[in-house]
Amino acid sequence: MASKGEGVFLKVKCFDCDNEQIVFNRAASTVQCIICGKTLVKPKGGKSEVFANVIEVVK
Ligand SMILES: [Zn+2]
Repeated sequence: MASKGEGVFLKVKCFDCDNEQIVFNRAASTVQCIICGKTLVKPKGGKSEVFANVIEVVK
């Protein structure tokens, strides 16, 4: 388990094209879908906002 304050990797599914991709939930920059270019993760005050379906937390 990740301790508090550490980022975790999330397996997400793009709303637009159903592409599954691993993203970091504390990304320092915007992460886009590798297939359609939709923004999946946006940095927001240390944590990140996720604009995709979170399927699971990758440990
Ligand atoms: Zn996509």
